[in-house]
Amino acid sequence: MPRKFFVGGNFKMNGAVESITSIINNLNSAKLDPRTEVVIAPPALYLLLARQLANDNIAISAQNVFDKPNGAFTGELSVSQLQDAKVQWALVGHSERRTILKETDEFVSSKTKAAIDGGLSVILCIGESLEEREAGKTIDVVTKQLNAVAAKLSKEDWAKVVIAYEPIWAIGTGKVATTQQAQEVHAAIRKWLAEAISPEVSEATRVIYGGSVSEKNCRDLAKEHDVDGFLVGGASLKPAFVDIINARE
Ligand code: PEP
Repeated sequence: MPRKFFVGGNFKMNGAVESITSIINNLNSAKLDPRTEVVIAPPALYLLLARQLANDNIAISAQNVFDKPNGAFTGELSVSQLQDAKVQWALVGHSERRTILKETDEFVSSKTKAAIDGGLSVILCIGESLEEREAGKTIDVVTKQLNAVAAKLSKEDWAKVVIAYEPIWAIGTGKVATTQQAQEVHAAIRKWLAEAISPEVSEATRVIYGGSVSEKNCRDLAKEHDVDGFLVGGASLKPAFVDIINARE
């Protein structure tokens, strides 16, 4: 079965009631390619609003989730609270959380497992820094990040995972990976999936690209064999997000 094209919009710490309402109204009234699975990730405060406003063909994702079921964890959100709010997805391991909030591979893995066990799907973000790329360590870095998650997941769990390859040097910088750079890493991730998990999981798992995706570069990237969609930051706040959703039309 072909992998369904997947486009996620990560609003990061942007927006307010008015602007988020307007972004969602724009998506609701646009013609979205039905072959694309669309997921938006507003800030936690607006998850309920987003679920109320968005059409049913648009799923909602949290930007983060905690790995404990409930209790004294100030500022965190649990998997069951997200479920209660009809949020079906969680972003895990975004590089801004790995670098600014010092989230480790171990913590990212633990959150991924907790989210899946509680019934959520996960957009698992991985990717290398500029320094690591220049030192030729890209594949080592993403493999290490993936191995940490693989140590906790069952083979069946991978059906609930979309892998977002996001080179840190391309996030929010306007510096997009070339189609060749993206395809090269995506193919390596698919090879890792085949060898470390199974050939079936490798065939079925969406590997999406993130890092300065725009309405200008999305069509070329979408043509690459192993690019199954995008995780979009800045451009997901703009009307051009619709063009990215429709990149395969
Ligand atoms: C992101 O936040 O995941 C991202 C890819 O951001 P941007 O599209 O702004 O580079």
